[in-house]
Amino acid sequence: MSINILAFRAPLLVALAAAALVCPLSAQPGGGRATTIQPGEQCPLGTTEIRPRSCMGPEDGAPSILDYRPRSTLVAPTHLVAKARYPAIDFHGHPQGMLGSVESLARLGSDLDALNVRMMIVANNMSGDGLKRTIATITASPAMKDRVRVLAGINFQNVGPGWAERAVAQLEADVAAGAVGIGEIPKDFGQTVRKADGSRLKLDDPDLDPIWQAAARLKLPVFIHTGDPQEFYQKVDYNNERWLELELFPGRRVDPARHPNFEELMKERDNLFRQNPKTTFVAAHMGWHANDLARLGKMMTEMPNLYVDVGAVLYDIGRQPRASHDFFVKFQNRILFGKDSYQPEEYPYYWRVFETSDDYFDYYRHYHAFWKLYGIDLPDDVLKKVYYKNALTITPRLPQTGWPR
Ligand SMILES: [Zn+2]
Repeated sequence: MSINILAFRAPLLVALAAAALVCPLSAQPGGGRATTIQPGEQCPLGTTEIRPRSCMGPEDGAPSILDYRPRSTLVAPTHLVAKARYPAIDFHGHPQGMLGSVESLARLGSDLDALNVRMMIVANNMSGDGLKRTIATITASPAMKDRVRVLAGINFQNVGPGWAERAVAQLEADVAAGAVGIGEIPKDFGQTVRKADGSRLKLDDPDLDPIWQAAARLKLPVFIHTGDPQEFYQKVDYNNERWLELELFPGRRVDPARHPNFEELMKERDNLFRQNPKTTFVAAHMGWHANDLARLGKMMTEMPNLYVDVGAVLYDIGRQPRASHDFFVKFQNRILFGKDSYQPEEYPYYWRVFETSDDYFDYYRHYHAFWKLYGIDLPDDVLKKVYYKNALTITPRLPQTGWPR
């Protein structure tokens, strides 16, 4: 990927570098150590292609991929961004352990102030008494009563006769208690949740229609996380882009015996969005299509009720800066900032990708992405929409005053 960027920006440099490597002294690269492969074949493990169809391994053996930590020698403009340029709404909040008391909420407030996150939407799938207790604590907090809002959870267990009436009644009670939307609908929905009759509950099951209709009637955005990155469904071999992650966290591998495959799940999800055009859906993690923006763009064009959040997919946004820039500009009314896992020191990576045109900088989690990020340099009016305006528009129950115009 970095080669592509260099090739685009500085073809001359690449040509010079290549010329330098073809000096007469290296006319017989690899000496006797090189092995030859046929067109279309991959080099044997432990070797790399040094010339077309000629493979060689390093003289002193290769380090583990964990231990190869090259220091970049690139000298380029660096703009660290500690605080978002405009006040942000984190639509994908999981501030674990910080909602229990007025004191912990105040700590959350000072963390968020340092980042210029003005508001957090808690996407913890809460309902009933738990939701009421949390809202009571937020309301009692002088610092945070206008800065934290909560989404309501739906209980998808035992969908069957009578389920929809109960679920809609619970949702109405949760909204009366102060919930501003629905979510985060977790990824077991569509994968492992069973209906009352024992069959897998599919995302597009018509038995669920009353709850989506209620969401539309009550003007509640539905924040939904479906499935996992595509690579979690693939064989865990050395061609898998998430190999390291799947080896570090084997629980993230998707068991094909227990789960529908990626495409089947995405098809059911898209049916759900299409069948309920009056309901506003926010697909978490850019619907796991940030690695295929053409596919996501087609969906966004076809489905005007679809919005996305950017949580935990910064590695895909930042590795294709030109395509991401254009995508964000084109769909500027439909993209929401959301962070997911609550780690205050990770937010500035998002600000830097969105706000700067910096080249080739580190991401915060090496196991997600062994590549570097690039800034996508969004214009101010797009930043404002992504940071807070879109969330305010689709969530009318949020405090609407005091935001920059
Ligand atoms: Zn989440």
